[in-house]
Amino acid sequence: MATNSKIEWTTHTFNPWIGCTEVSPGCAHCYARDMMERRYHRVQWGMGQPRSRTTADYWKQPARWQRQAQANGQRERVFCASLADWLDDEVPIDWLADLLTLVAATPHLDWLLLTKRIEHWSDRLQSVSRLTHDGAAIASTWLEGNAPVNVWLGTTVEGQQQAHDRIPMLLEIPTTLRFLSCEPLLEAINILQYLPTVTDAKGTCGLEPNRLHWIICGGESGKEARTFDLQWARSLREQCQAAGMAFFFKQTGAYAIDSSQLHPVQRSLQDPKGGNITALPEALQVREMPLPLLQSAPVGHSRNQKYVPLLIKEVL
Ligand code: SF4
Repeated sequence: MATNSKIEWTTHTFNPWIGCTEVSPGCAHCYARDMMERRYHRVQWGMGQPRSRTTADYWKQPARWQRQAQANGQRERVFCASLADWLDDEVPIDWLADLLTLVAATPHLDWLLLTKRIEHWSDRLQSVSRLTHDGAAIASTWLEGNAPVNVWLGTTVEGQQQAHDRIPMLLEIPTTLRFLSCEPLLEAINILQYLPTVTDAKGTCGLEPNRLHWIICGGESGKEARTFDLQWARSLREQCQAAGMAFFFKQTGAYAIDSSQLHPVQRSLQDPKGGNITALPEALQVREMPLPLLQSAPVGHSRNQKYVPLLIKEVL
């Protein structure tokens, strides 16, 4: 499958705009700010600074991916806003309306909408719903409980506090599939209370309402990377296994330790982010994906059905 993203768990990356404000400890060494503000001087980061919309030409890319996915008969994933936050409330509201319209117009793409501002979901969509814009109907329908079927909704959880603050809000929002990005993970976290229960012996879990389905885990990269302990990842993986849900280990980051071994994890100069997971202990060589809903739905089933079997697909 053609891909334009270096991120292992997505096919494409799309940035509707660039710029943001730090909101929590996971933002401390924001690579997007480092690149777009300090290196390229493209946009100023922070509160009160205007966000920079990407070009009209760039916005046409998802329609091309959509045609390609449709022609290939395959769904493709789009990670939205690696250089911004799609629920940033300093973004002009019509830009968000345009984004929702684009998502609805590309049904062969699964849009991974990840945010550190999950608490803004309702206010932002209500603002869109009041506009005279095609996106208004999409926002209203979602607010009424019918999420766009090609949206996977995620929130970042870098520590226990963010788990308790953000996961309950994520669980309240209607969506096809919910995921967590635990990257950069900054401490051990326990999320068992938010995980689904295993539904059969093969480790199959279901798209039950108000449940999580997928977890991405990784350490921090860059010069100032904070410590990442492989034991935190083992614990998270065990929690996912116990719940029969998908776990994706992305990278160790630049400074990993393994407290079970009492020595730093060796880092290769060719692999500064620690993304070569074949070099890791076997228990962490895990890159599972949830099977896309629309592929897994048996022929004839409604797109809006509330429960569709969700298989775990090994991709490593
Ligand atoms: S939310 Fe994301 S893009 Fe925004 S400052 Fe934090 S890490 Fe950077």
